[in-house]
Amino acid sequence: MKPAIDLTGKRVLVVGLARTGIATALFCATRGAHVTASEERPESEVAEAVEKLRAAGCALELGGHTRRTFVEQDLIVPSPGVPPELPQLEAARAEGIPIWSEIELAWRFLRGRMVAITGSNGKTTTTSLVAHILESAGVPVIVAGNIGTPLISRVAESSDSTVTVAEVSSFQLECIHDLRPDVGVLLNLTPDHLDRHASFEAYSRAKARMFENQTEEDAAVLNADEANASQYAPSRPRVYWFSRAKHVSSGTFLRGDEVIFRRDGTETVLLRRGEIGLRGDHNVENILAAACAALLAGATPSAVATGVSTFAGVEHRLEFVSEVAGVSYFNDSKATNVDATLKALDAFPAGLLVILGGKDKGSDYGILRKALRERARMVFLIGAAAEKIESQLRGAVPVVHAGTLERAVELASESAHPGETVLLAPACASFDQFKNYEHRGRVFKQLVRRLADTTTAAAANHAAPKT
Ligand code: ADP
Repeated sequence: MKPAIDLTGKRVLVVGLARTGIATALFCATRGAHVTASEERPESEVAEAVEKLRAAGCALELGGHTRRTFVEQDLIVPSPGVPPELPQLEAARAEGIPIWSEIELAWRFLRGRMVAITGSNGKTTTTSLVAHILESAGVPVIVAGNIGTPLISRVAESSDSTVTVAEVSSFQLECIHDLRPDVGVLLNLTPDHLDRHASFEAYSRAKARMFENQTEEDAAVLNADEANASQYAPSRPRVYWFSRAKHVSSGTFLRGDEVIFRRDGTETVLLRRGEIGLRGDHNVENILAAACAALLAGATPSAVATGVSTFAGVEHRLEFVSEVAGVSYFNDSKATNVDATLKALDAFPAGLLVILGGKDKGSDYGILRKALRERARMVFLIGAAAEKIESQLRGAVPVVHAGTLERAVELASESAHPGETVLLAPACASFDQFKNYEHRGRVFKQLVRRLADTTTAAAANHAAPKT
């Protein structure tokens, strides 16, 4: 049973007016709460949100947060981007005011079952795949969370038969209270967001909170190939493992060419490895995790087979863009950290020209040296982190400073031989030159398409008979 909740007449403060904050404020206002929204930016920068919230009767504190507003509330919902150690939040915490993330609040209103997916990499791919498998099984599905639409905006659509598949970030897990997914998945833990979390331990602890409130009726899915996974394995829920390397006693694994699910001593062959359309061993891990979670959420083994074999992947994740003059171009703009880039490099044979760089997140790019030495013929650097990356890669691979993505594509296309691959897998955030990684990925695809058009036009000109 979920703890009962009634927002009528409650004073609710929403901190931060980006997409999640706006959705949360409107949700609470519709349910009879007295909502205040506090935003650091001035009105001129959040004019659209302000208009919507005023129309819904919300009070507003703009251009900064005050302690007074924070301590006069019954509930505070900070947006995922707001640091929990914000002094005004600390003050409210000291007064005993509940501070919940949006997913905690949303979960309390959500009907049906919930599969929640977290981890450093692979969340969006796995979330989309679990949803795709469940849809193949005819289950009514809601996909929400970090993947696009805040969970709170989708709650009203849920019913007792829905399965909600939610992508959950460490920031959202930092402020949960009773949240208890029916199936919780922790894909992997590698250093990321160390600019925001105090340490890797703090980041890992936040992710492992996924299982904190689960009981024997719930299921936890973890990666048996991760060195420290058993450290985070909870004791109360039923624990299932996924593994590429081991034969686990409960969960999904590979045996030869077969993907197998084992539960209570019974094995089911789900599909053959050859039926997996996605590239890379990391995607095999995502598939094993997704298959396990989907089965636990009610999918049949045949729906898993259909779902996996018909899943086309997600934009900006090892996405094939085009082949131009015999050179393949892949967009992995979502590789915003070193580990994701490493996985991307591992997904290809030698003959790579790799575009790296952007905004540094305190990463150690030296980790890429071995894979680059083995697979990359050249690296093209863009963005603010270029100097740091060069100093950490020196001697491992020839490096060219391209500055911009446009120049990098141009230089890479001039250097690439037929049969080679140009891969955008930057290992950095994008904010120094782009709005976000999607923007970076779209620009890359446009540049490649332009290159394709120019190459086709040049070939046509060349072939046209001279008059
Ligand atoms: P997230 O939502 O956790 O950021 P995505 O599915 O969007 O994960 O993938 C992000 C990046 O991480 C992509 O560049 C992809 O190539 C890489 N990646 C995907 N799955 C994994 C995994 N299981 N382990 C490591 N890297 C992965």
